[in-house]
Amino acid sequence: MKYCCKFIITLMASSILLVEALQPAHFVNAQTNQENKKMKEQAIPFEAENSMKYLREICDIGTRISGSEGIVKQRLLIKKHFEALGAKVIEQEFKAIQKSMGKPTPMVNMIITWHPMARERVILCSHFDTRPQADQETDPKKRKGTFISANDGASGVALLMELGRHMKNLNCSVGVDFVFFDGEEFVFDPDDEYFFGSKYFAREARKNTQVIKYRSAVLLDMVAGKGAKFPIEQNSWWKAGTVVREVWSTANELGVDSFKLNEFSRVAVDDDHTALNNGGIPAIDIIDFDYKHWHKLSDTPEQCSGETMAGVAKVLASWIQRQR
Ligand SMILES: [Zn+2]
Repeated sequence: MKYCCKFIITLMASSILLVEALQPAHFVNAQTNQENKKMKEQAIPFEAENSMKYLREICDIGTRISGSEGIVKQRLLIKKHFEALGAKVIEQEFKAIQKSMGKPTPMVNMIITWHPMARERVILCSHFDTRPQADQETDPKKRKGTFISANDGASGVALLMELGRHMKNLNCSVGVDFVFFDGEEFVFDPDDEYFFGSKYFAREARKNTQVIKYRSAVLLDMVAGKGAKFPIEQNSWWKAGTVVREVWSTANELGVDSFKLNEFSRVAVDDDHTALNNGGIPAIDIIDFDYKHWHKLSDTPEQCSGETMAGVAKVLASWIQRQR
């Protein structure tokens, strides 16, 4: 399998309907609605090389498994970075019991808050833990090697670290939270549970809707692969079609061709966006289904590209400014 998380293979029984739904005419309304909003929009001078610098810094920590010293180091790095940029950083602590472990593991989601007083908010998110083993290695000895997970974990954080440098210059009418989920990869056995962090976050958000109303969320998973392509992930379409239309039509308009407006993913994926959708927050997943180094020791910074991250960030920067 070439995928990041736990996948549900769905038969494309309704593929005709899907293809029909993706015809450009269906994007016209989303585009028209965005016409007025883009007048005051700022383009960001996202520095691709800077995002790669952050990605290498994260990978230099080594493995970042939930509950480990490595993930604590990464949390400190993230906290220091975003606080220096003027964001409010909230650490959401909880404990998770994995079936195959039998004892609680401390976990922490990180919430980086921009415009904290705004009740209406959107989320840009990613997991930030690494898998205990490189389970796609065919040689069992290699599986236990040091798995630093450059694209699958570090890329979402690195992209948002560089985007964070430009947040103050964006013309946002809604609050924005960058959320880094713990416990997405804390899996040792095929029957183990996934997505501890996003499930916890969604439960807490549901309790707090009087204070914060999350309109939508965009999940980033493997967003730095060289030559990456992002088809529309099927569950995103079914659960949060409006957000899909907004994001992919923005990419089309901006000429970011890694986003494939007329392609659906071959499979529907369960990822952190599933927990958010189940919790009532419309959420989509920007994910690379063809990354050759997925869950292999070869998922290193050399396989990643700042240009790929820059393309995704350009789309996100426009999208958040169009939320009014
Ligand atoms: Zn993964």
